[in-house]
Formats: sequence, C-alpha cells, structure tokens
Amino acid sequence: MRDAELSVVVPMYDEEEVLPIFFERMHPLLDGLGISYELLVVDDGSRDRTAALLLEAANDWPQLRVVRLLRNSGHQAAQSAGFRRARGRYVVTIDADLQDPPEVIPEFLAAAREQDVDVVYGVRSDRSSDSWPKRTTARLYYRLMCRLVGKDIPFDAADFRLVSRRVVDAVNALPEDGRVFRLVIPWLGFPSAEVRYIRAERAAGTTKYNLTKMLRLAFDSVTAFSAAPLRLATWLGLLGGLLSVMFVVGALLIKLTGRGIPGWTSTVLAVSVIGAIQLLCLGLLGEYVARLFQSSQRRPQFLVGYDSLEDQGHQEPVP
Ligand code: UDP
Ligand code: MG
Repeated sequence: MRDAELSVVVPMYDEEEVLPIFFERMHPLLDGLGISYELLVVDDGSRDRTAALLLEAANDWPQLRVVRLLRNSGHQAAQSAGFRRARGRYVVTIDADLQDPPEVIPEFLAAAREQDVDVVYGVRSDRSSDSWPKRTTARLYYRLMCRLVGKDIPFDAADFRLVSRRVVDAVNALPEDGRVFRLVIPWLGFPSAEVRYIRAERAAGTTKYNLTKMLRLAFDSVTAFSAAPLRLATWLGLLGGLLSVMFVVGALLIKLTGRGIPGWTSTVLAVSVIGAIQLLCLGLLGEYVARLFQSSQRRPQFLVGYDSLEDQGHQEPVP
C-alpha cells in the first residue's frame, strides 16, 4: 500500500466512547470499496484510552495507520498532520463522531471520478440536529467568510470532503500556520463538486469543540483572509476622535455661556466611549500581531510522536 488510492484522515481527541462504533462502520465500508486504502487516524494528544484502543485495533487491521501528536493541537492542526502524512491519490477527511456518515465516501469518489474534479464538498442538507445557537452562529460565519474569501465557499460544508493529490500538495506547500481548511481549500480554486448529506447526531461521547476552540477558529478564519478588521479599527479610531472633539467643543461652549459645569454623566460617557473604542482597536491589532508573532517564531504547529507506519517496533503508547 505504498501509494494507496484513498487515504481517510480522521482527527481524534478523546474519542474512546465513539471509537469502537466508528471502526465497526468504517471497516466493512472501506474493505468493500475494492481499492487500496489507508485509514489514517491522527490522535490529537488524547488523554483517555483512544491511543491504546487505536494501537490494539491496528494489530489486525493493516490499513489502519495511527499518527499520534504529542499534545492536543486542535482539529485543524490535526488535519494538517493528516495532509502531510497521507499517501493516497484521494484524501477524505471525516470526523470521528459519525456525524458525517461514512457511507457518503463512495459517493465522493464517484463524483470526483465522473465529474473529473479535484474537490468534492460534503454539504449538509439539513442542520436540524444542531441547536439553534449553533445554527445561527454557523450561518453568520459562512456569510462573513464568503465575503472575506471573495469566493463562493459552500455553505454548511465543514471538514467532510474529498480532495485529490493535487490539492493536498498545494495545501502542504502553503507556508502559513493556523490554516482553516474549509476556507483555504475553496480559496485555492480547484474545480469542485458537492454531495449533499444529512448530518447525524454525535454517535457517542460529547463535543470536543469548546467555546474557546470555536472562537479560535473564528479568529483564525478572519485574520487569515482579511485585513478589514484592521481598517475597521482605523475608522472606529477616527469616529472616537471626532466624538471627543465634539465633547470638548460642547464643554467649552457651555463654559463660555456660563450655564454651569457640564454634568458628571457626560464625562463618564466620554471616557467610557473612547476607552471602549481604544480597547477594541488594541484587541484587533493584538490579533494580527499575535499572528505575525506566531509565524515569525516558525514553531512547528504539531509534533508527531508516533507513526505506526514508521515505528513498527514500538507499539506501546506513551501513557
Ligand atoms: N478534534 C480534534 N482535536 C480537538 C478537538 C476536536 O482532533 O482539539 C476532533 C474530534 O475528535 C472530532 C472532530 O475533531 O473527530 C470534530 O470535533 P467534534 O465532533 O467534537 O466537534 P463538533 O461536531 O461538536 O463541532
Ligand atoms: Mg461532531
């Protein structure tokens, strides 16, 4: 399986509960495709028994390849690791929690071959399994991203998709860190197709995307593609400046007409309005500076501690 036809990349973080069900559905499906494949699980520094279960399963499933990251580096970084190591002519990324039905993978392959495209997006035709706040924030996110990327990015296409080797090589050649796959891939602009599917509930376990990780994704998405917030900061700064000039003129006029000292309220208002605007601008600047800082450090975004393909002798996971 030096050059597999298909690599299925699965980032996993603390997924011991869903792992057995996932393999139960994945194994016959992949075997039934009748092509050479590898199932490349990227263990994103799990703290539970995920790693041990993976290595156990790999014993009697030669196509199962386990890559362990030394520490939890996040969903997107785990995908980067998968892209770097995948050897397939086609690479499918899928979540471990069975929200993305593996049965769609053959449809992806068929679409890629029949329509001769490099990218096949899995698009959710129904989001009713998600909660209302999640749906609303997701809609906002996709609308904003369409504007920022300057291309039609498929709505409700997350990280369940197929890409060809050409796309994998192009993504790997990008020097940037903190890449957001669902934006970078449409941005590259390869010919694409869509396959609709119904997103299921998580089969077991709980979400591994907490609020911090979701905000991280949103900030990375915006700062990777647009300097508009930076310009917004300038405009807000100008507006703040204008407001403060008006306050000063008003205060002077009141003083000149001798109608008493302007109220305490307006002082507090001025201080807080300007203070708020300044803080906002500083925060926005900070986001970009942090990004520059991170990329200037040139630290690896992830470190691979183990790859079952290279490290046949040492099958014991680090506890
Ligand atoms: N995941 C990961 N690292 C993380 C968080 C999540 O590899 O730090 C994986 C997780 O195991 C799953 C996928 O990313 O396979 C999507 O996560 P999840 O299903 O928890 O996100 P949700 O569907 O709730 O947005
Ligand atoms: Mg999920």
